[in-house]
Amino acid sequence: MKDNYARDITYLRLSVTDLCNLRCRYCMPAEGVPKRTHADICSVEELVGIVRQAVRCGVKKIRITGGEPLVRRGILDICRGIAALEGVEEVCMTTNGTALSRMAAPLREAGVDRLNISLDTLRSERFSYITRTGCLTDVFSGIEAAYAAGFTGTKLNVVLMKGFNEDEIPDFVNLTRRCPLEVRFIELMPVGNSDRAAFLPASAVLTACPELEPADTSGVARRYRLPDGQGLVGLITPMSHRFCGQCDRIRVTADGRLKPCLHSDQEIPLRGLDGDALYRAIQAGIVAKPARHRLTETGRSDAGRNMNQIGG
Ligand code: SAM
Ligand code: SF4
Repeated sequence: MKDNYARDITYLRLSVTDLCNLRCRYCMPAEGVPKRTHADICSVEELVGIVRQAVRCGVKKIRITGGEPLVRRGILDICRGIAALEGVEEVCMTTNGTALSRMAAPLREAGVDRLNISLDTLRSERFSYITRTGCLTDVFSGIEAAYAAGFTGTKLNVVLMKGFNEDEIPDFVNLTRRCPLEVRFIELMPVGNSDRAAFLPASAVLTACPELEPADTSGVARRYRLPDGQGLVGLITPMSHRFCGQCDRIRVTADGRLKPCLHSDQEIPLRGLDGDALYRAIQAGIVAKPARHRLTETGRSDAGRNMNQIGG
């Protein structure tokens, strides 16, 4: 279905929990977030029901996110239920990767097609610092397990941060020389706890690696490759080059609220609705999608939630 600005909305990012086993400094407070009761969070059946009606509205691709989706009880049932819906063409997941050594194979069996794994540094001490609680070797084993389970088209999400990982840009780019994966550099957005002073434009990647050659665009990413590279390097530039004109997505939070735009506090409650009423509420959310965000003008997001509560 098209929104009011002729954008075809085909992509739903579905958050299944606010909780996470990590505490990335730009995403979550050190103490974590208050645990909510089961009743506050959509059940497996509610989540699958929301996707069923979103598909009637034209959604084809679902990304399961969080918080950390792999800490959500019933995650395999959620994936299985969504993958089985007629009209769903692709089920993806964004994960911090720390539980993938155990979960990659079951996720593949449950119908997940592709993974995005978030990894902001390749250095152990830095990883412990930025995630406050994480262990880098868990993510490396998770990436190996994803390959072993047969996942292809895996992407690594790297949030660019001045003074933290800018010196690792060439190391990340070099991963694409021999591995057929896509490394995506994402500009830090001024949401929740993120440190505004750490913003680094994605153009820093092209400055650090001038040998990168333009390849294509894919969704909201402009992609490049090394002359002899097997993989791709994607730049996601919500701050320096607004891509709202190409935005094809809506979001649903774990407590069942549809967000037409990541950076707006507008939310449409979906819980308690089903069938045609739920379908109409999702349609209303698509129609309510604003033309664009105002991050660059105001320097802040109006999201009204931290990233772990939206799903990125
Ligand atoms: N826990 C999972 C993970 O880390 O991949 C999924 C949820 S996380 C909120 C989704 C994505 O949002 C991650 O790639 C994370 O790095 C990114 N993210 C979180 N806060 C951000 C911010 N302020 N600016 C840009 N990206 C952010
Ligand atoms: Fe957790 Fe992902 Fe947020 Fe890190 S970015 S704290 S892994 S939800």
